[in-house]
Amino acid sequence: MAESPCSLNVGSVRVDAVVELATVPLPFAHFLPDATAEAIAAEAEWLKPRFADAALTHGLLSFHTYVLRSETCTILVDTCIGNHKDRGGHAGFHRLTTDWLRNLHQLGVAPESVDYVMCTHMHGDHVGWNTRLMNGRWVPTFPNARYVFARQEFEHRAQLRALNPGADYGVYADSVLPVIESGQADLVESDHEVEGLLRLEAAPGHTPGNVVIHLQADRGHAVLSGDVIHHPLQVKYPEWSAAFCEDRAASAACRRRFVETHADTDTLILPAHFPAPTAGFIRSHGNRWRYSFAD
Ligand SMILES: [Zn+2]
Repeated sequence: MAESPCSLNVGSVRVDAVVELATVPLPFAHFLPDATAEAIAAEAEWLKPRFADAALTHGLLSFHTYVLRSETCTILVDTCIGNHKDRGGHAGFHRLTTDWLRNLHQLGVAPESVDYVMCTHMHGDHVGWNTRLMNGRWVPTFPNARYVFARQEFEHRAQLRALNPGADYGVYADSVLPVIESGQADLVESDHEVEGLLRLEAAPGHTPGNVVIHLQADRGHAVLSGDVIHHPLQVKYPEWSAAFCEDRAASAACRRRFVETHADTDTLILPAHFPAPTAGFIRSHGNRWRYSFAD
């Protein structure tokens, strides 16, 4: 089994992560186009070897799903890329065959036992395991789950497909539509609450309907931050948006608000793409901030 990037408790809620891809190298020059080599080099001491390669030219990103278990329910947040999905050769996402589902089983989570599946947004690396291929058809991986999607994100993606049907590499058709057709999708407002445990908060920028998800347990608070922050360098430099952000200026403003709001608090951050140990806190550091891993 792949090493879990995190396994901890937030109040009485157990939080684990199921890894699909542990350390994917992406060139900083491509995915953080505003980052300078000098600024990256200044962080070498903590970046290597977990968060950047030896030459400091590539950041390392993890792709994982959070598994939240309370006494009464099991919730998955962000379902990675998925197996066998045809992404037109799109590097890194095309026709994967990983052990994600087996690793979920090994955590003690059978697909039938999942109550909710949530996605911070609908990019292909956050909805993939919503479905799996069975007898040549895409079917919901979690037959008893409600799939909770922010309506604004859903409608935004529909508009994009109307303008350019090929733009999403088939993500909607194979990873969202089967869930709609099975009647398992709930399209909700961007402040929706689930089981008194989770609360969505609009976080537009990476995508217009992007949300973060607050976990409010009896004694603890965490935020599943999705793609508001892709790499821990962006805690120090919230103005560095990723190339994948659909509105990079809005994403930078959203990230800065997020960093300022949660800095020097007890709020545990659960990011979508930080390699192990993943979870951490935002702390003031000089006139900026830094990410303090929880391990
Ligand atoms: Zn992502």
